[in-house]
Amino acid sequence: MTVLRFVLGDQLSRSVSSLRDVAPDDVILLAEVGEETGYVRHHKRKIAFLFAAMRHFAEDLRQEGLRVEYRTLDEDAPADSFTAALMEAVQRHRPERVVVTEPGEWRVRQMMEGWERALGLPVEIRPDDRFLCDHATFEAWAEGLKGLRMEYFYREMRRRTGFLMDGEAPVGGRWNFDFANRERLPAEIEPPPRPDFPPDAETQAVLDLVSRRFGNHFGDLDGFDYPVTRQDALRYLDWFVEDALPRFGPYQDAMRQGAPLLFHSHLSALINCGLLGPQECCLRADDAYHAGAAPIEAVEGFIRQIIGWREFVRGIYWREMPGYGERNALGATRPLPDFFWTGETEMNCLAQAIGETKRNAYAHHIQRLMVLGNFCLLAGLDPTAVQEWYLVVYHDAYEWVEMPNVVGMILFADGGLFASKPYAASGNYIHKMSDYCENCVFDVTRKLGPRACPFNYLYWDFLDRNGKTLRGNQRLRQPYQTLDRMSGERRTAIRDDARRFLDRLPSGGDY
Ligand SMILES: Cc1cc2nc3c(=O)[nH]c(=O)nc-3n(C[C@H](O)[C@H](O)[C@H](O)COP(=O)(O)OP(=O)(O)OC[C@H]3O[C@@H](n4cnc5c(N)ncnc54)[C@H](O)[C@@H]3O)c2cc1C
Ligand code: SF4
Repeated sequence: MTVLRFVLGDQLSRSVSSLRDVAPDDVILLAEVGEETGYVRHHKRKIAFLFAAMRHFAEDLRQEGLRVEYRTLDEDAPADSFTAALMEAVQRHRPERVVVTEPGEWRVRQMMEGWERALGLPVEIRPDDRFLCDHATFEAWAEGLKGLRMEYFYREMRRRTGFLMDGEAPVGGRWNFDFANRERLPAEIEPPPRPDFPPDAETQAVLDLVSRRFGNHFGDLDGFDYPVTRQDALRYLDWFVEDALPRFGPYQDAMRQGAPLLFHSHLSALINCGLLGPQECCLRADDAYHAGAAPIEAVEGFIRQIIGWREFVRGIYWREMPGYGERNALGATRPLPDFFWTGETEMNCLAQAIGETKRNAYAHHIQRLMVLGNFCLLAGLDPTAVQEWYLVVYHDAYEWVEMPNVVGMILFADGGLFASKPYAASGNYIHKMSDYCENCVFDVTRKLGPRACPFNYLYWDFLDRNGKTLRGNQRLRQPYQTLDRMSGERRTAIRDDARRFLDRLPSGGDY
C-alpha cells in the first residue's frame, strides 16, 4: 500500500525523517504553494532559491527511481496551501497513510495537527532529527534554570557531540575563543573570491517565474549564483573550509564597505533548507582543525555558532511558542522607517547593510545585530514590524531562527530571557569594527547636534527612556552611572536631538 510522504521546502535532505524508510511504491509530494510565498512578502531571491532547490531535490529523488509528485506555482491550478496540496494528492493516490517531518514553524505545526481529521487518514509527524538537540533534551536542560545562557548550553552540546573535545576537556584548554573573534579587518587583507554557481535551465525557469509573479516583492534577482543542489552545496562547503574558515575567527565581527561576505560561510540558507547538515559542516571544520588547516579560534567560533547558537535559538523558539512573537518588554511602538525597504538613508552603515540585504538577501551577523538590530533597539521600533522585516529579507529566514534572534537578541523584547543585557551600542562600536563612518555625512566623534552620529544620542536616550525597566540590570550599572553624572542640560539636549531625529523618520510607505 502506498504511503504519501510530504516534504516541505526546508526539508530538502535525503536523510530527513519522513524519507528514511521510503519504498519505491510510495509517493513523495513537494509543492510550491501560494500561501507560503504570500503570508509575508519574501525577498525575491529567497523564493527563487527555495523553489530552485526544491525542483533540483525532486529531480535527484526521481534519478534514484523514486515516485515524486511536484506541484509548481506556474501550473494552471496551483495549490493554495500545504493542506490543499496534500488533500489533492490524497485524492489522486489514495494512500493508506501520510508521513511528514515536523515543520520549523508553530503556524505550520498547528496546520499539520489538523490533517489527520481533515483527511480521515493516519498522519505520522516525525521529529526533525537533523537538529542535534531534540525538544525533550532542550527542555530537560532548561528546566529549573533561572536564566537561559547559550554558553552553558553550548558546553553541553560540545560534550554530547564530541566536537573539539579532548576527553572531558575542551581542545585548546578553553570552551570559547570569542575574545579572539573581534578584530578589525586591516586594509591590506582581501576576502577570498567565492565560487559562483550560474543558474542552469531549471533555475532560470524559476527566476523567470519569480520575476513574473513576485516582481513587486522586496529585493533583486540579478546575478543569482547561489548553490541550489546538494552537489554544489558540498562544493561550496569545501571551498569555505579551505579558503575562508582559516580567517573566519579573528574577523567574525568586522565589517567593510563593499565586502558583504568577508570570511563568513554564507552557509545558513543551505543548512536551513536541508541541502547541508549542521553535523557535516561542523565535522568538516573539526577535521580542518585536526589537520592543522584552520586555527582553533576559527573552528571553535564556527562550531559554536552552529551547535551553540543555532540549536539554542531553536530550543528557545519551541519552548516559548505560542506568544513569543508578541513580547514587548520595552513597550516599543515606533513603526519601521521606510528606508528599511529602500536603503535610502544618510546613515551610511544602515544604507550599506540594507543595500546589501536588498541585493543579496544576506547580511552577516554583525550587520544584522550591531548595525540594523542596534538601530531597531535604540529607535524603539515595534517588535512585530521588525520581526516581519527580518523574516522577509533574508534567504535563510524561518520563524524558528529569526524570531528569537529578533525578540530576544536584538530587541530585548522578552525582558532578557537569554540575553543578559540589551545589545545597545553608540556609533563608536561601528566605527571600531568597520570603515562605514569614513563615508558618512555624520561625524561619529560628535555626540550632539545636526552632524553628530545619530547612534550617539540615541544610545543615551534609549537608556534614559528605558530606565525604569533597565536600571536594575547589573551589567548596565556603569552606563547608568555615566548617564547620572551628566548635567541636566546635556540630558535635555540628548533627549531633544533624539526626539528631532526620531520624529523625522519617514514611515507608512507601501512596500
Ligand atoms: C536579528 C537577527 C536575525 C537573524 N535571523 C536569522 C535567520 O532568519 N536565519 C538564520 O539562519 N540566521 C539568522 N540570524 C543569525 C545569523 O546572523 C545568520 O545565521 C548568519 O548571519 C548567516 O550567515 P553565515 O551563514 O555567513 O554565518 P556564519 O557567520 O558563517 O556562521 C556560521 C553558521 O552559524 C549559524 N549561526 C550563526 N549565528 C547564529 C544565530 N544567532 N542564530 C542561529 N544560527 C546562527 C548559521 O547557521 C551560520 O550559517 C539572525 C541574527 C540576527 C542578529
Ligand atoms: S557615523 Fe554613525 S551613522 Fe554614520 S556610518 Fe558611522 S555609525 Fe553609522
